[in-house]
Amino acid sequence: MATREDVLVELGLTPTWRRRGTVAALPAAIEREAPGVPALREPAFRPGPAQEGGTRSARIASLSWDDFAADVDACNACGLCRTRHKSVPGVGVADAEWLFVGEAPGAEEDARGEPFVGQAGRLLDNMLAALGLARGRNVYIANVLKCRPPNNRTPEPGEADACRPYLERQVELIRPKLIVALGKSAASLLLGTDATIASLRGRVHQYRGVPLIVTYHPAYLLRNLPDKAKAWEDMVLARRTVAASDGRIIASEISNEVAGLPPVA
Ligand code: URA
Repeated sequence: MATREDVLVELGLTPTWRRRGTVAALPAAIEREAPGVPALREPAFRPGPAQEGGTRSARIASLSWDDFAADVDACNACGLCRTRHKSVPGVGVADAEWLFVGEAPGAEEDARGEPFVGQAGRLLDNMLAALGLARGRNVYIANVLKCRPPNNRTPEPGEADACRPYLERQVELIRPKLIVALGKSAASLLLGTDATIASLRGRVHQYRGVPLIVTYHPAYLLRNLPDKAKAWEDMVLARRTVAASDGRIIASEISNEVAGLPPVA
């Protein structure tokens, strides 16, 4: 099993951290909105071409976990169902505290029916490990699109619209303490903005009452190694946000010692 040192080396985060003292309150960085930045609106629901007068979205909005994956698998609301091999509804525990949202399945995910199992997924798993999290424990991983776009092209707006009710339902069913939007597609869909990742990072947004952090997509990080350190800053903010959501920010400092995690900066 990888040690904490292995994980931090993999993330490009060595030399490792020094304790700077106990944090009793959230820093100014954890504001709901940064000063001077216009408030982000939640995306208004826009019926896509396959909404069948709203009955489809209403049906998806009342799906149970038991029926969720089969419903995704039977979906033909956009053309991707014709080119994908397996649908990729998501993976994780139903009452996860953390919900990670990526863009869309790639080739390996399409073959296995599970999100983030390729190279980018291995980096995501390392990031989870560095946070003391793991796939299947306290975490749920999903994508904006549940089916692979051919050649991994960027999702088209109509596809994202058609898939939106599924992600909305996942958020409703999980009610996580935090959503982490991995990359531009997830941030755009969830926050209804075309703003850059760089401008959205470093603060806590809201999605339907759930705190949301934006960070770089793991596939981007694989190509832009220096930005791994920024992604780690985002994960530290994410961890503090989860800790703050139930008033255990000081307790989390103590559990950092137990988990071998870096202290909250
Ligand atoms: N990239 C994503 O956004 N999602 C996956 O599941 C795999 C790669």
